This record gives sequence, C-alpha cells and structure tokens, in this order.
Amino acid sequence: DPIREPILRVESLTKSYDGFLAVNDVSFDVAPGELKALIGPNGAGKSTCFNMLMGQLKPTRGTVTFDGRAITGLKPRQIWRLGVGRTFQITGTYQSMSVIENVQMALISHHRRIFSVAPYAWKLYRDEAMEFLATVGMEAQADRPCSILAYGDLKRLELAIALTHRPRLLLMDEPTAGMAPSARIELMQLTADIVREQGVSVLFTEHDMDVVFAHAHHIMVLNRGQLIADGDAAAVRANPQVQEVYLGG
Ligand code: ADP
Ligand code: MG
Repeated sequence: DPIREPILRVESLTKSYDGFLAVNDVSFDVAPGELKALIGPNGAGKSTCFNMLMGQLKPTRGTVTFDGRAITGLKPRQIWRLGVGRTFQITGTYQSMSVIENVQMALISHHRRIFSVAPYAWKLYRDEAMEFLATVGMEAQADRPCSILAYGDLKRLELAIALTHRPRLLLMDEPTAGMAPSARIELMQLTADIVREQGVSVLFTEHDMDVVFAHAHHIMVLNRGQLIADGDAAAVRANPQVQEVYLGG
C-alpha cells in the first residue's frame, strides 16, 4: 500500500566509536503491521542499531522518525511512551512475583497509577492482565511464581508485558536467544500471530535463518555496519553479497 506512511523511518543512521563505524549510514523503513528482521553476523552492528532506535545510545549521525515524529536523541522513557515497545535480551521480570502479578504491575505502570493504590489496582487489573496472558497462551500459569517458569515461558511473559503498553512498534533484539529450536519457532509463530491480529509492527534480530525466513515479511542484512540487503526472503536469498557473507562464496 503506497499511501501508508511508514511507522518507523531510519535515515543515514551512524554510530562511530573513535572512527570505527559500528553502524554506517543505515537507512530503512518499517511499515505498519510489518514483521521485519534485521540479520547479520556477530558484530555487524545490530544491537548498536537497536540501542539507537530505543534511545539508549546517541547516534553520531542520522535521524529516526516514529509515526511521523522525530525521535532522534529522545530518552528511552520518552520513546517508550510514544509507543515503541521492546523486549529485553536479559529478562526483566520480578522473579518473586507470580506471572499475573508481573502483568498487573506493567498495567499499573501503563495506566500511570501510583504505587500507594497498588492493592486496589491489582484487583482492578486482574481481568485485563488475564487477557494479555491469553494472548501469549499463559492463562494456566497465571498464579505460578516467575522463578519456576521455563525460559521459553519467561520470554512469552516478557512479550505479554511489552504488549500491555499497546506499542505500535515492538523492538526485539534476539528474542529467542538461549532457546531450543522448537521453542524458537513457537515464539516467532506467536509473534507473527500477534502482528497479524493486532496490527503491531515488529523489528527483530535473530540468528536462526530458518526462523527468519519462515516468519519475517521482509529481511534486512547488516554486515560490518552497512545494510547490504532489504527485501523479501527470495530477494535476500538471491542477493550475491548476502551469499558471500553467509556462505563465504
Ligand atoms: P551485533 O549486535 O550485530 O552482534 P553490535 O552492535 O553489538 O553487533 O556491535 C557492533 C560492533 O561495534 C562490534 O564490532 C562491537 O565490538 C562494536 N562496539 C559495540 N559497542 C562498542 C563500544 N561501546 N565501544 C566500541 N566498540 C563497540
Ligand atoms: Mg547483538
């Protein structure tokens, strides 16, 4: 649809460390409702790129526009408030609380309640929290402590928590890191379902090529800080530069 504006526009994004270009003049768009992957070898600059999008790292050069608004240089909290969600490479849940309490905490934060009303708020948000758990298929585990969750379930919980803030764009840096192949496929399948059902856009990084090619609508390839491909699976697979990077050919 050529009329729709991109939800995210990245232009000439660059990060230099003493002259070393970790991210070098990277430009791309993410469309509304798109599931887009950013892949590339270790050290290609994927996390550096994500950290700039989330406001955790200041770009040396370039601009980031979210939903038509310049967000370059804003603080992580401001960017998050505008509707850019994220899941963490290291899980950020409260281990001593139950699964649903973690979601309720996130909802309290979303509804900007203050902590002193927490006992009432928790009751208030239980049904709503349960809906988010249903989205990720975790209703049955609602009252379990987080400390006993399997790693894959913790990742699904993180996704539920990220969704409580109704992001229009979700940034996921290696969401399946440390997971078994079957769990990787499951989490990406779930993410693809959420993208389709809720119209949220997702930009993610991932090592497992099977996962990427099975689920991403579009794939970008970063190599030594530079974007060498941006297209659908067929186009990226056929790209000679990509073949060189991945097959050494
Ligand atoms: P990826 O996530 O694709 O594996 P990174 O974005 O983590 O890659 O790193 C890209 C490059 O930038 C690597 O060569 C890394 O060593 C370098 N780099 C990352 N952070 C810093 C830093 N704070 N100072 C210097 N170099 C860094
Ligand atoms: Mg990384």
